[in-house]
Amino acid sequence: MNLSDKEFIKRAYSSVPMYVELTGDLDINLDNITEIKELPTITKEEVVKQDSIIAADSIPLLYGNKLIVKKTSGSTGKYMDVFWKNKDYVKSMLPLWLMRKRMYNISPDDRMCFFYTMMEMGKEQDTYMNKSQLGFSKSRLDDENLHRVYKKMKEFEPKWLLLQPSIGALLCEYMDKYNEKAIESIEYIEMSGEILSESVRAEVERHFRCNVVNQYGANEFNSIAYECPNGNMHIMESNVIVEVLKDGKGVEDGTEGEVYISTRTNSAMPLIRYRIGDIGKICTGKCDCGCEWKMFELTSGRVSDYILCADGSRVTSYTLVRAIESVNYIYENVIRQFRIIQKNIEEFHIILVVDEDDLDMCDVIERVFKESIMETRLAGVDYTFEYKTRLIPNDENGKFAYFKRLVG
Ligand SMILES: [Zn+2]
Repeated sequence: MNLSDKEFIKRAYSSVPMYVELTGDLDINLDNITEIKELPTITKEEVVKQDSIIAADSIPLLYGNKLIVKKTSGSTGKYMDVFWKNKDYVKSMLPLWLMRKRMYNISPDDRMCFFYTMMEMGKEQDTYMNKSQLGFSKSRLDDENLHRVYKKMKEFEPKWLLLQPSIGALLCEYMDKYNEKAIESIEYIEMSGEILSESVRAEVERHFRCNVVNQYGANEFNSIAYECPNGNMHIMESNVIVEVLKDGKGVEDGTEGEVYISTRTNSAMPLIRYRIGDIGKICTGKCDCGCEWKMFELTSGRVSDYILCADGSRVTSYTLVRAIESVNYIYENVIRQFRIIQKNIEEFHIILVVDEDDLDMCDVIERVFKESIMETRLAGVDYTFEYKTRLIPNDENGKFAYFKRLVG
């Protein structure tokens, strides 16, 4: 552990209530810590239960609304707000921007298109636009809307796209169906948010005829690893420390295990040795692309699945995630975790985890949820709701599937 890591950790451990408590309970002497593995690990479950992960000096900024708030991706099924100081946020994005520029000639002012679950929460917006960015809502990606999206993208002439692999696959399917050609201006597509399978990568490459580059990130940390032109994912070592553990113990490089991440930049909400819920390995060997940072491989991560409709068509499951996010926007994160199960073609079972005090809000939650479904194919179907006050445990593979389809 270098000196700046040591100072960062010392500051975090002496100013974040959750760590102060851990330090006392475990009798940790911060002056004697030489390696990060001497510190305890933490989980999302522990963090979502308490507000005590904010550093003392950032509390006035938090209440003065001076911190950037990022919602952890709803698609992991568990909600948590992540707070950043502006300067830390910029610093955490810097290595990604440097690598985009150096490896693929992509700069922040290049035109780009992306897809979002919710932009300005609670507002019904189909598109978001500023000087160099054009974003589209994921809530209603039927053929009619894809037609509109594709047309707008063509007119905007983006240099690059930022996509979830499932959205990339949807675009390819649309292009095949309507015989659409690749948009000439697109030179680079970055994939993030879900695990990128080789088949989806090949499809997107074949359709768009450009570089398809994988990025592994999370709102808790921003970018964690990024793919170089040699196809290796390099860990963003100036932003995070990545560890792989099995049964609580570190494994040798090359061995698969649970991924734990520590921030090197977020001083307001410093997550240290945090179990992100993905499975992966730190690779052995060296890459000759010029990047000295270690290589990483994600072997199991977030996957998205499709909802199957009565007419045989498919809808991305983000459509229902968005409805849950609307509820959380209006009622301040009342839903702590969710799971959506498609039991039959027109039958959905929704499990929601809320605090015991909020159990009397079922009626309004269900009403807002239904009102927020923008997709007509999902508007008239049956929804049953089940409420829990304890978080749903991970599946047997150690992962959590926020959406499960039992038909088709
Ligand atoms: Zn490389």
